[in-house]
Amino acid sequence: MKNIRCKNLEHVKLVVVKLGSAVLTDNGHLNASFFTRFAGEIAQLRRHGYSFIVVTSGAVAAGLEALGFTSPPLTIPEKQACAAVGQLRLMRKYEQEFAAHDQVVAQVLLTADDIRNRRRYLNARNTLRALLGADILPLVNENDTVVVREIKFGDNDNLAALLTSLAEVDLLLLLTDLDGVYNCDPKVVSGASLIPLIDEVDAEVTAFACTSKSAVGSGGMLSKLEAARKAAAYGIPTVIANGRRPGVMSRVLAGEDEGTIFLPRANRLSCRQHWLAFAVKPRGSLYLDKGAVRALIERGTSLLPAGIFRVEGDFGVGEPVSCRDLEGAEIARGLVTYSSSDIKKIAGLHSREITSRLGYDAGAEVIHRDNLALL
Ligand code: GLU
Repeated sequence: MKNIRCKNLEHVKLVVVKLGSAVLTDNGHLNASFFTRFAGEIAQLRRHGYSFIVVTSGAVAAGLEALGFTSPPLTIPEKQACAAVGQLRLMRKYEQEFAAHDQVVAQVLLTADDIRNRRRYLNARNTLRALLGADILPLVNENDTVVVREIKFGDNDNLAALLTSLAEVDLLLLLTDLDGVYNCDPKVVSGASLIPLIDEVDAEVTAFACTSKSAVGSGGMLSKLEAARKAAAYGIPTVIANGRRPGVMSRVLAGEDEGTIFLPRANRLSCRQHWLAFAVKPRGSLYLDKGAVRALIERGTSLLPAGIFRVEGDFGVGEPVSCRDLEGAEIARGLVTYSSSDIKKIAGLHSREITSRLGYDAGAEVIHRDNLALL
């Protein structure tokens, strides 16, 4: 077991560490001793050559007390007000603790919209690169004060998973208040046992995941598994471990049996494909016949008009769409070369008929393979 872990962790340099509210808070207060210990451990690992991007929750939790809430707020504006107050407290805490190690920190607040939009995505990437290049520790959180459901990441596990390709990191480390993934909910079943290694997040694995979640976080085990699946698709391992255990990060990085490790996928997606597969929001769907599905999956070809039999949605040139099989299952995502109205006109035709049907030709492919990510 140690060998598999070491092999998968030996080239790790840049790590996204995600800290859940359950790790950062105790009875509704920011857990001061955790911050002190965390800063010390990060500073030490940095001296050993590791770099980090920290995805930190805890803003809403930290704001609750200040606004006089005794239980989590119900309305979105109340939550956003808590986040506005709490984010400041959270950053102050990090800044104080890291100052003791001469480590400058930076606040990076993102919304899902920032990641969906390619230009803003690239801006975020450049900013993170500049921060890392200047030896500054980025502290990332969702910009809770302005997000509403439509533009939300959902939870910080997902945000951390999307950062893996955005920042080209080598390991996703999700720190929570559990020791890893169990075969059933350890908070309910006393004989639950820890699963040390998961080589693929499939339906069987997701069935293990307890749907229960801690009272203060917004994720849960299911969202962590989903994050691990996304990181694996980008070709990097994920470790889910207990952030409350002193020294946990060093032990994980040393390949020791700590938490649950998820192995990366062999045929990894490139950064751009990863963005296409997980960050964009499809504007419509193209339904493909069997031959086209096989060509995409088995031969990695571009999508030609001949294989499309139905178009759903209204979208323009360059917009993201889902590619679906006969049963409607999503098999790929890509950026289209033609608008939905033009694809309707050429669906089922040979590419050489495009000009006579449309009066122009933007290429033989409806989605070029460079703009396609298999799911
Ligand atoms: N962004 C939220 C916060 O800082 C937490 C979201 C999450 O835990 O997934 O409070």
